[in-house]
Amino acid sequence: MSMTMSRQASSRAAKIDDGGADDTILELRDLRTYFFLERGVVKAVDGVNVAVGRRKTLGVVGESGCGKSVTFRSVMRLIQSPPGKIVDGEILLHRKDGDTVDIVKLDPRSRQLRDIRGAEIAMIFQEPMTSLNPLHPVGRQISESVLLHQSMSRRAALERAEEMLNRVHIADPDRRIGEYPHQLSGGMRQRVMIALALSCNPSILIADEPTTALDVTVQAQILDLMRELQSEFDSAIVLITHNLGVVSQMADHVAVMYMGRVVEYAPVYEIFHNPKHPYTIGLLNSVPVLGRKEDNRLVPITGMVPSPMDEIRGCAFAERCPDAMEICWEQSPEFKEHEPGHSAACWLHD
Ligand code: SF4
Repeated sequence: MSMTMSRQASSRAAKIDDGGADDTILELRDLRTYFFLERGVVKAVDGVNVAVGRRKTLGVVGESGCGKSVTFRSVMRLIQSPPGKIVDGEILLHRKDGDTVDIVKLDPRSRQLRDIRGAEIAMIFQEPMTSLNPLHPVGRQISESVLLHQSMSRRAALERAEEMLNRVHIADPDRRIGEYPHQLSGGMRQRVMIALALSCNPSILIADEPTTALDVTVQAQILDLMRELQSEFDSAIVLITHNLGVVSQMADHVAVMYMGRVVEYAPVYEIFHNPKHPYTIGLLNSVPVLGRKEDNRLVPITGMVPSPMDEIRGCAFAERCPDAMEICWEQSPEFKEHEPGHSAACWLHD
């Protein structure tokens, strides 16, 4: 069997247990998003299988360029085409009424997709100015988003905007709704973006590095706010971050990504106390952990991430892996469950 085929087969076999199919709100099956460039094809997402539980938080971690943002931009159908394209897989949104829709099959310009974006799945970014329009007052931006998805008068939508600013603890919301993004601090802009994202009460909030650009105190406030709003709005959260500290505080489950794939998935406690994949262990060893013994110094992961254009034979982590064996260079390990709810793609566990 060629290596490419064996890698495809392995990702198809992966099955995520997030506590029961009835609790799953979003399911990615063998998702592949490629970028077709003049110099070659970048397989940014190359067979991702992951599930998000209703009202749960999934932390998605991995180094820059591992595909975590592209995976969830694909869910929102925010991949610029060309050069990007979802070439295979399914993105299944399981609605409360039992209906399931495959987002991959929707026309990017369709009304159905527009309704899903914002009203069912909303996304916030590291830099609020990505989503906020500098030319309009923030209140108007929130109210227009509300009007797009719900039928109500302009006045009621503006009242909803003010209420949302209040919900995200912005003082003087009646004054702030008339202000422009540049008149607000970075932390306040991030709160406005959360208000904008939650204004239509989506079932899923995707947060892409939402606190990376903020100082530590504001970061903690925003995370507290997200937790508070999650229980109030009953939303599931996908938290994309490179910060394992944030993941340990926020997530119920964690997906560790490497080279466009999920290489380990488990409940958060398992990831921190019983990691199975050498890449996860490397990530944990390379960040400061409270209570770490003095002789357990920080150890960076050695080597470089291969080019996403390389055709890789065997395990994509083999060049950097301290435990690599002969088989690792030959065959890609299957991503599979090794303990209940704990999956990994690594020959060490086969
Ligand atoms: Fe390391 Fe082999 Fe496991 Fe890959 S499959 S992570 S090379 S031990």
